[in-house]
Amino acid sequence: MELTELWRAVLSELKDAIKKADFLVWFQGTNILKIDEGIAVIGLPSIFAKDWFEKRYKDLILEALKKHNDQIVELKFEIDSRMLTDSRGIDLRDLEKQTKKKIRKLPNRDEVSVGEDGATSKMLNPKYLLSNFVVGDDNRLAHAACCAVARQPGKAYNPLFVYGGVGLGKTHLLQATGNAVLQNYPDVQVVYGTAEKFTNEVVEAIRKSDTRNFQKKYRRVGCLIMDDIQFFANKGKTQEEFFHTINELYDGNKQIIFSSDRPPRELKGIAERLISRFEMGMIVDVSVPDYETRLAILQKKCQEREILLPNDVLEYMAFNCHNSIRELEGVLTQVVAQAKLQQVVPSLNDVQKIFRKLGNEQLQDYEQPRDKQRAITGEEVIEQIATYYKVPKSDLLGADRRRDILLPRQVCMYFLREEFNFSYEKIGELMGRNHTTAMHACQKIVDLLQVDRVVVRDIGAIKNSIGI
Ligand code: ADP
Ligand code: MG
Repeated sequence: MELTELWRAVLSELKDAIKKADFLVWFQGTNILKIDEGIAVIGLPSIFAKDWFEKRYKDLILEALKKHNDQIVELKFEIDSRMLTDSRGIDLRDLEKQTKKKIRKLPNRDEVSVGEDGATSKMLNPKYLLSNFVVGDDNRLAHAACCAVARQPGKAYNPLFVYGGVGLGKTHLLQATGNAVLQNYPDVQVVYGTAEKFTNEVVEAIRKSDTRNFQKKYRRVGCLIMDDIQFFANKGKTQEEFFHTINELYDGNKQIIFSSDRPPRELKGIAERLISRFEMGMIVDVSVPDYETRLAILQKKCQEREILLPNDVLEYMAFNCHNSIRELEGVLTQVVAQAKLQQVVPSLNDVQKIFRKLGNEQLQDYEQPRDKQRAITGEEVIEQIATYYKVPKSDLLGADRRRDILLPRQVCMYFLREEFNFSYEKIGELMGRNHTTAMHACQKIVDLLQVDRVVVRDIGAIKNSIGI
């Protein structure tokens, strides 16, 4: 077997045993450089990786290699940073392509033309979903209202008015609702636009003396989402157009969703009749989420970006970034960029520097977390969770279906899946159940995480105690 081919085979096996984010970070650009007298020399792109491999992956790799070539008795690591760019190092994306099942994507309708003139005003970004919006006390109602609208557009709450400060998730919620309506009702024409864009279109229509086409275009819509309507302030003609548009849609039982930076009554420079319209349905607000929710959001964003950051770093960021989620994401982006550039896992110290650079002067006192050791075996995970919930491990593996045992059991399965990437079969085996039970349990927790604050808190606390 050729060396690269052998390494690919080994990686395909390791992939299932190692958490995905870790796998992607550490195995990019690696390969077997040579096998000499029973010693396999593995090329790694950084010294830091060497440390990590020595401590965590050496045995796993050796074991996997032996399966293919029983002459191999020992491993050595060699550093060469060029492996990341030259053809010796393996590119995991190729590996992924070969093995990956198709990811389910939203129907390919993220841009739909809504006028003969080819104007596209539906700009739904498929990355915004109701399911990846982290729910906390401060946005629970808004999220619930959006879910209700997505289930029954035009019936549940019409219009729906979401307000709150910048960077708190209004656009995310509006877009996610649009995506969900489309998914539930593929025939409904969903149009998302900002008030600014609407204004520009009105101006353009007036310039071309062609308001009729413009009106037709908006009034045919099945679900109109208008973001940042505070922008309509003092724009009389636009407000008039908008008023007629939403009246017509409303009368036709079409769903309308607005967002704004403040509640309807506090809007300045907006006509009274529009304000009354805004007030006719459901009004919900989003405000700054608490520390725990901010931490949960960070964890979710890391998961989405497939990166792994130490918990103390995430906690520090969540603690010190309390104005908006956009700001929080901005810091995360910086931290990740720096980590990639320097190829090291960022420490608390690095993150503090980034905060200072960003001009965040008043850093709060923050208790330094203790050193944590990551639990590695499935058994250990189960034990930790049993300890956390104060139930005997045997109960978790047993048949009792009372909630106070069922929930920890489901949490175990969820953890093994989400945090340790175990297959459902493997989870079933560990927990003495079949794989469909494991699958349902994981889904159950995923669902609960959307609505149940206690579960979110539990998961966060368990992660903490395991040190991930
Ligand atoms: P707004 O429109 O209120 O100014 P956005 O919707 O653009 O804010 O949110 C800013 C960023 O924060 C987006 O990337 C969004 O995904 C993220 N965000 C805000 N709230 C949440 C949440 N509860 N869960 C997940 N992501 C969130
Ligand atoms: Mg916005």
